[in-house]
Order: sequence, then structure tokens, then C-alpha cells
Amino acid sequence: MALLSGKKALIFGVANERSIAWGIAQALHREGCELGFTFLGEALEKRVRPLAESVGSKLILPCDVAADAQIDAVYSEVAKAWGKFDVLVHAIAFAKKEDLAGDYVSTSRDGFHLAMDVSAYSLVAITRPAVPLLNPGASIFALTYYGSEKVSPHYNVMGVAKAALEASVRYLASDLGPKGIRVNAISAGPIKTLAASGISGFKDKLKMAAANNPLRRTILQEEVGNAGLYLASHLSSAVTGEVHYVDAGANIMAESVPEEKKEGEA
Ligand code: NAD
Repeated sequence: MALLSGKKALIFGVANERSIAWGIAQALHREGCELGFTFLGEALEKRVRPLAESVGSKLILPCDVAADAQIDAVYSEVAKAWGKFDVLVHAIAFAKKEDLAGDYVSTSRDGFHLAMDVSAYSLVAITRPAVPLLNPGASIFALTYYGSEKVSPHYNVMGVAKAALEASVRYLASDLGPKGIRVNAISAGPIKTLAASGISGFKDKLKMAAANNPLRRTILQEEVGNAGLYLASHLSSAVTGEVHYVDAGANIMAESVPEEKKEGEA
């Protein structure tokens, strides 16, 4: 039997076929999960709707996570269509372009609030109304990045937002554990997506990852999708409150690894 047969997942954060959320959607679909999607704005609806329909989704809803009324509208549709569901995926982040370039010290108050609201608080905002609709054994997970732990050039305010997101994962896991709901994060290595293209010098992050991360290559959207499948399924039934690395390089020195070492050299 497929790992997720009879299960339902609501996915926030597909923008196009390159989105990490789409990699997760495909992995969940492959294992028999019924999917619902949200999209941000009409322009993205044109991209998201055909993708969602290609995996048989009937629940395709607008949602700006900065607007509580839109979040409420999503869950009232989910309650009508599904009643209960099993998996909630948060793959959302946003910061002003000028705050993802230059120095962190230049971050404006406004830019800080925006990045924190959309990229970190939104996990709380979409989790709270989901709780009464989630089945026991349900799984929630969010996407994060190594720039939450160490300084990553130009990641700036997003690194601070991801640190808040990861701390939120731990507090939510503790709140919701007694209800049988698990909350985790996946910290993915860099992948070229729409959101990533907003980070100044992102190509350097890809090069750094390929040179230094344990696998010495960049990772694929589908590899993050498979990690998401594990977190969504009963295979991770006692795993909660954790950040899971998909070759994010977190335990490797952020120094370049020499291509060739001389014989006998340490
Ligand atoms: P993406 O651009 O495909 O996805 C980002 C999504 O956030 C988009 O669907 C966008 O519509 C959505 N979004 C932005 N503001 C929103 C709002 N106000 N309301 C609702 N949705 C909003 O890019 P991605 O790289 O797939 O990003 C998905 C997640 O993965 C993000 O949390 C990102 O930080 C994280 N991540 C990305 C990488 C990478 O290298 N691409 C690495 C680690 C973690």
C-alpha cells in the first residue's frame, strides 16, 4: 500500500514547477496523498492551477499569509471539502530585495517586520486554525535554510526570520505534541527557485554548496520532496521539533575544500 494512501495534505508555497513545495507535492502525490494548494495572487494562479490539476487537486485557493481573513477563508474551504486532514506544508518566505543584498545592518524596521511576518509568523498563523482540522498523527513541516545558524552573505534578515521560524517549530511541537501533531523543519541546501533569485549572489551559494557540502554537489528539488515524504508519513511518527538537513552543509566548515590534496597532506 502507498505510504500516504487515504491521507490529505495542504501545501502553501507553490509558485511554479521549480518550487520546493512542488517537489514535495510530487513526492506526496506519488505515495497516494490527496493534495490541496494555496497560491499568492492571480499571476501565480496561472502557474499553480495547472500544476495542481495535474496531480488531481480540486482544492486550489488564494492565500496571502499576511492576511488573517484569507487564511480563515482557506480553512473554511478545507473544512467543507475535506473535514479533517493530515499534512500541512509551509514553504513560504519573503523579504524586500534590498534587504537581501549588502549589509544586514541596513535592514529597515519595515523590511524586518515584513520578512518576519511572512516568513516566520506565518507558520503560527496557518497552524493555529489548522489544529482543530488535523487528524491525530498529523505532520506539519516548514522549509528553512542554514543562514539561520551561521552568517550567509546577503541572506541577512531572512537568516534572522529563519532562526525565528526554527524556534517556532520547537515551540509549536511542544504545544501540539499532546494532540499527536508533529512539527518539524527541513533545512535544504540551495536550489535555484524564484525566491532564491531574489538573494544577491545566490549563484555563489550554489558554488559554495557544490564545493563544500558533504555530498559535494547541489541538491535536487525531488530530494527535498523525499525528505518531506518521510516527515509526512508514519515513518517519522516520533520525530518532532527538529530541523532536518538535506545536504545543507551545517556540520561542515564553511571554508573551501581544496580540490586536490598533496599526498600525505592532512
Ligand atoms: P518559491 O519562490 O518557489 O516559493 C516561495 C513561495 O512563497 C512562493 O510560492 C510565494 O508565492 C510564497 N509567498 C511569498 N510571500 C507570500 C505571502 N505573503 N503569502 C503567501 N505565500 C507567499 O521558492 P522556494 O525556494 O521553493 O521557497 C520555498 C521555501 O523554501 C521558502 O521558505 C524558502 O526560504 C525555503 N528554502 C529555499 C531554499 C532555496 O535555495 N531555494 C533553501 C532552503 C530553504
